[in-house]
Amino acid sequence: MSEAETSGTDRPDRVLQNYIAGHWTDIASTAEAIVTNPATGAGIAVHPVSSTATIDSAVEAAAGAFGQWRKTPVPTRAAMMFRYRHLLHEARDELAAIIVEENGKSVAEAQGELLRAIQYVENAATVPETQKGAVTENVANAVDIEYIREPLGVFAVIAPFNFPAMIPLYFSWAVATGNTVVLKPSELCPLTTVRMVELAAEAGFPPGVINMVLGDKSTVEALSDHELVQGLTFVGSSEVAEIVYRRVTGNSKRCQAQGGAKNHLVVTDTAVLDRCMPNISSSLFGCASQRCFAGSNLLVYRSIYDQVVEQLVAQAGSMKMGLGTDPDVGMGPVISAAALEKYTTAIDAAEAAGARLILDGRGASVDGCPDGHWLGPTLIEADPGSEVWTTELFGPVRCIHPVDSIDEAIDIINASTYGHSAVIYTERGGLARRFRQSVETGQVGINVGTPAPIAFYPVGGRKSSFYGALRGRGVDAVDFYTDKKVVVTTWHDTDGGDQAGVDPAFEGTV
Ligand code: NAD
Repeated sequence: MSEAETSGTDRPDRVLQNYIAGHWTDIASTAEAIVTNPATGAGIAVHPVSSTATIDSAVEAAAGAFGQWRKTPVPTRAAMMFRYRHLLHEARDELAAIIVEENGKSVAEAQGELLRAIQYVENAATVPETQKGAVTENVANAVDIEYIREPLGVFAVIAPFNFPAMIPLYFSWAVATGNTVVLKPSELCPLTTVRMVELAAEAGFPPGVINMVLGDKSTVEALSDHELVQGLTFVGSSEVAEIVYRRVTGNSKRCQAQGGAKNHLVVTDTAVLDRCMPNISSSLFGCASQRCFAGSNLLVYRSIYDQVVEQLVAQAGSMKMGLGTDPDVGMGPVISAAALEKYTTAIDAAEAAGARLILDGRGASVDGCPDGHWLGPTLIEADPGSEVWTTELFGPVRCIHPVDSIDEAIDIINASTYGHSAVIYTERGGLARRFRQSVETGQVGINVGTPAPIAFYPVGGRKSSFYGALRGRGVDAVDFYTDKKVVVTTWHDTDGGDQAGVDPAFEGTV
């Protein structure tokens, strides 16, 4: 159960429901958590945990709808995605306000997330093009071969807390290609998904095509084991991604499991610092560092090290911390009291181990929000290989270290157990090219601090940052949610079938 259960927050009036077979239903719960505003500590809603029987009914509803949905003409499915896109766009201010309340981001950050999230739906709406199969005639005498991209059935989508709109919308590709889904949002930030599912119902998706169940670990386990679930998309921490991947694939189902990150940013001596420093600072501390693409560890060429440190300290110092509704706020809270405790403990330990604290965010406070989970920007000069350098801390605890060469930086990056993204700041093309080829990460940024792929490019890391073969989004998502059924055909009639086969004089000419 999440930290909300133990926070002592008063029980709010709003009790969340599941969405199953086109109906909002009360949840026969096994436990409950309180969704809280991380900036104020105020309870927003009660989040019940669904029982196994409830999860069964959601999966059965999805399985029941699959037969009709897969037969629904592709242009009709695409049109429904367009309608959904329109409703999401119309509701973006309302959705942004929900994200700010349950996640703590600023309005600008929430709007940025929604812009990208809505692009997922736009991209999924291109399904008449992306779900095309392929045909080759005459692969043998009068024999043709083709493949058809078929949907498979019920997919589960499991989301983390940090992008409450973007990640649940991974379901767009599953549904557009003719599958049906059961979504499970994060128990820390479920409200955005609840509203997005309401909008999906308004868009006209038939009952059972999109279902949502609230829950926790037990819910994910039940979905992973359910015989009617064909595959599962997971996004969250590496620790859980590996567990989920092993469980789902152990059940002979498809799985793509996106994990955590510890991203390195290399600042070389040709970096245009005036242009790069705001980008670096935003990568390190934007969204209170609760982004999988956030820069975690900064490797800076020794000749410019002091200059970079000085500028970072100045920029972080000018960042206003507070409620996301305040347009001047540059940094919100971390998600929970448990997260705050974890990061504070990590800073304590790094300090005790001899690391130098350049910026110390412990003890930060915001006027009027004494119960918020505040941690100011923290910058630690640490050794690569130390605990604070190697462990993912999904909050504003960042490390910095000087390097003497690109090879030293690449060796440090490749020693990481994570392989999500790596960034280089340079104006030397050849150096950037070597970096791009040498780092063992799924994404690379060249003078771009958060190299997050847009909807029509695949996303996924390497090593413990991603378990699976097919990445998320774009054509990879279409591949993941469909199966290429191969059909080999010949005909025996006289209108172009095998009677019209090749003249023996043409056989064996090569
Ligand atoms: P998390 O792993 O704690 O939870 C993610 C989901 O898994 C939640 O829905 C949760 O209910 C469920 N869950 C938790 N424990 C489980 C267990 N033992 N078995 C099965 N399911 C379980 O992640 P979080 O704290 O919500 O999100 C932050 C993490 O997500 C960070 O590590 C971040 O790097 C990562 N993330 C990765 C990407 C990416 O694209 N790779 C994107 C966003 C976030």
